[in-house]
Amino acid sequence: MPGPRDAEITIIGGGAVGAAVAYFLARNGWRDIQLLEGRGLCEATSSQAAGFVGQARPTVERARLTMAAADVFRRFEADTGYPTDFRECGAVRLALSDASVRELRQIAETAESTGLPVEFLTDARLRGIFPVLERTEGVKAALWSPTDGYLQPNSLVTAYVSAARDLGVTVATHAAVTGIGVRGGAIESVSTDAGSCRTDRVIIAAGPWSAAVARLVGLELPIVPVLHEYFVTEPVQGWHAGLPCLRIPEVQVYARGESDRVLCGGFENRGTSIDPREVLVTSRLAARPDWDVLGGFAASLSAFAPAVAAAGVAATFQGWPAFSPDGRFIVGPVSAIGGLAFAAACNAHGVSGSAGLAISLVESLSGDPSGYVRSLSPDRFIPRTWSWEDARRDAQAVYENYYPMPVAS
Ligand SMILES: Cc1cc2nc3c(=O)[nH]c(=O)nc-3n(C[C@H](O)[C@H](O)[C@H](O)COP(=O)(O)OP(=O)(O)OC[C@H]3O[C@@H](n4cnc5c(N)ncnc54)[C@H](O)[C@@H]3O)c2cc1C
Repeated sequence: MPGPRDAEITIIGGGAVGAAVAYFLARNGWRDIQLLEGRGLCEATSSQAAGFVGQARPTVERARLTMAAADVFRRFEADTGYPTDFRECGAVRLALSDASVRELRQIAETAESTGLPVEFLTDARLRGIFPVLERTEGVKAALWSPTDGYLQPNSLVTAYVSAARDLGVTVATHAAVTGIGVRGGAIESVSTDAGSCRTDRVIIAAGPWSAAVARLVGLELPIVPVLHEYFVTEPVQGWHAGLPCLRIPEVQVYARGESDRVLCGGFENRGTSIDPREVLVTSRLAARPDWDVLGGFAASLSAFAPAVAAAGVAATFQGWPAFSPDGRFIVGPVSAIGGLAFAAACNAHGVSGSAGLAISLVESLSGDPSGYVRSLSPDRFIPRTWSWEDARRDAQAVYENYYPMPVAS
């Protein structure tokens, strides 16, 4: 495996986002690109992701971004020869109260304006599409999004990196960036624990370590790691990989079939975050399962699919997706340092959104980005006019309100 080399563009981070950035830069004609990863490829947050690709979203911008990403996943193998294992099984979103029905209508309106096919299901059709949902009495509406689905994050990262390599990108793993050289206000070099090299551009796609890497050039950015987790059960009768993805925002859970098992997670009301100032580029961000939280998800899902209650847990997955205080990605160049850009703060959307995020990054470097892409600029947080305490609280609140639904009374 080659080490770091002199390169025009250096991407820091070999998760879903860094890999997507490498591929899309190369595909759009950028050359002399290297990707540096401190561990192995896809060994951090991306490896833990459930892989949901949900396009039905409340805002037009997010819906368009994920629709563009889903389109990339669908066509990736035909375009590049590498499969992403995207399974277009559809997704169902349930509403349990009148307020939630209104939210679903808003999502349906957004879908209509973006051209995403969605439809409301009768109870009979819901049970036909999702037969393991035995208790649907409390469901007031069900929105069906047939082109949603899920993928395997490891397959996605492997596919991006393989396709990027075919376009000339080099990859160095076990090369943790420990320093970034700046001269005359512009990027000049990076140092890693596997050697140093000259470079003109650095793109920081270091997931929950992005704030720590930013500090290497004296920048403070509110990129806050928040704990997120789910479990996979032992086999449960009736569940299979072709079932749709399920979201029940009012009880804050999501689920899908994982072969003949149930994958179930959620966004709890009380998140756990890390102060980004305590994260170093060398930090191991360990996470252990919180059985109270996971038990709460299981109980919520069991109210609709009782067989889940009796199933043993076969595995748990957890990690620290990075959130921003305003819930928007942090993407694009930094005005204060020539050649520096970010692709970070995915707000738990970094696998499904990876392609859209990378396309936005490429656009941000084009000189004439759209208003939406400009709104993602890291410059909105530079210089620091915000407090770390507020930023951490607000970013954590974005996690806690991930499903923008009122809690059922
Ligand atoms: C339990 C769980 C479930 C999730 N489910 C979903 C889902 O269903 N759909 C979805 O879209 N998202 C999901 N997410 C969120 C998603 O995983 C993240 O948004 C996404 O993985 C972020 O990708 P990334 O490349 O930014 O970060 P990472 O995957 O963490 O990659 C960052 C990389 O940077 C490297 N790095 C850090 N510092 C340095 C350095 N100094 N030098 C070199 N390399 C460095 C790290 O080693 C790491 O490999 C989930 C997350 C979790 C934890």
